[in-house]
Amino acid sequence: MEYIINGYEPKRLFEIFEEISAIPRGSGNEKGIADYICAYAEKLGLFCVRDDVNNVFVRRNAGKGYENAPAVLLQGHTDMVCEKNAATVHDFTKDPLKLRVENGFLSADGTTLGADDGVAVAMMLALLELDEDMPMLECLFTVSEETSLLGAEAFDYSVVSARRMINMDSEGEGIAVVSSAGGADACFTLATDRVSCPERPVKITVTGLAGGHSGTDISTCRMNANRVMGRILARIYEGTPFNLVSIKGGNMKNAIARECTAEIVVLDKNALEGELEIIRKELTDEVCAEDSGIKIFLDKGKACDKMLTYKDTSTIINLLTLAPSGVYAMSPDFEGLVRTSCNCGVVEGDENAIKVWVKTRSSCNSEHEVLLRVLKRLGKALGVSCEISGIYESWDFCKDSEIADQFVKAFKELFPDSGIEPKTAAIHAGLECGTIISRLGGCDTIAIGPNVYDIHSPDERLDLASLERFWKLVLKLIRG
Ligand SMILES: [Zn+2]
Repeated sequence: MEYIINGYEPKRLFEIFEEISAIPRGSGNEKGIADYICAYAEKLGLFCVRDDVNNVFVRRNAGKGYENAPAVLLQGHTDMVCEKNAATVHDFTKDPLKLRVENGFLSADGTTLGADDGVAVAMMLALLELDEDMPMLECLFTVSEETSLLGAEAFDYSVVSARRMINMDSEGEGIAVVSSAGGADACFTLATDRVSCPERPVKITVTGLAGGHSGTDISTCRMNANRVMGRILARIYEGTPFNLVSIKGGNMKNAIARECTAEIVVLDKNALEGELEIIRKELTDEVCAEDSGIKIFLDKGKACDKMLTYKDTSTIINLLTLAPSGVYAMSPDFEGLVRTSCNCGVVEGDENAIKVWVKTRSSCNSEHEVLLRVLKRLGKALGVSCEISGIYESWDFCKDSEIADQFVKAFKELFPDSGIEPKTAAIHAGLECGTIISRLGGCDTIAIGPNVYDIHSPDERLDLASLERFWKLVLKLIRG
């Protein structure tokens, strides 16, 4: 193979990165990369386990002088996000990435680079073959992190002996993530009673909101279209009761809803327009700059045979106004960090039922349980079912993490002139660490990485010099 990255050490690390970039590895398509890792381990004569979802675990025994040193678990995911520019011709199921180096940055031509998390894969393989004595290394290569956390959840952790973990699925030099959020999906379902519809409904639309990620953007002042619709419907209903025919808001549970429509049969349409005008004025004053495009308007609805009863209409309004959405609690340990939140991402329905989805996130398992109980009590109070699914564990902050202290110390010693003050951080989004730590029954963990920018987009690029420094740092942490 001809390599294009030159002048960085250790050479093998960068070569391996180039080699794995030729292996298609979108989420769910990890067989090829698992084959590669297993062949690699076999060539090195190392203990290797592969499970049926293509997670791979490789162990390298302790070297001379490190027999009593604590083992280290290194971890990262083999899958990558497959995004490309509209004009780029690329088949993610079979084409190798076309790498290019520019001004010290590595990127892929028109596609995501997969440094998230190819960096971890290349790091682990380069460390496994390194001809130097080290403590016992255990490397866990997981699948489908980008879509479902399936790999981290399915793996049988009984083979793991280490209780010190370096996850390499983070980015940003000098930052060690020490806590991430877990979460769940709550689904409220109201089985609806329908009565016949005397006339064509009117349709109310809320649109033009900025939306955003339900974790990282939840603390912004952006409004949720489903909540705005709840507010509108509540106000109208108090003046002139109406019957709901249909409601649809948001497309993704993990996005702040940008749009919501509701069809209603209302007798006094003049009063309706008056109420909407008042709400429009209120909202124009209330919204933040990103939401200034908000629009609320009326249209004709689709002709229909059936509509909800007043009682069910009122229940849906109660649900939309009472289901919590937004910041639930802030972190006492990290300034400005949301500890627990929820997002009323999707409202949908058919002729039999209306469903309202609330996604929860928390980096405190006990507080998360409280929130889930709140949601269940709300369902009970309103007479609608509330199903909780998709629970994944949070990575709770631990005040006395040895490996976090070692990270800060090692960074300062290695790079005293970097101008970067190393620090720990917590994120209000999910990482595999939460699942892994809970399955191991506790594990001192940090999540770190080199500088990678614009991940999950075709602009993704890796700062090559920062990967060189990352290697030195990880090596120092492993040696303890
Ligand atoms: Zn990742």
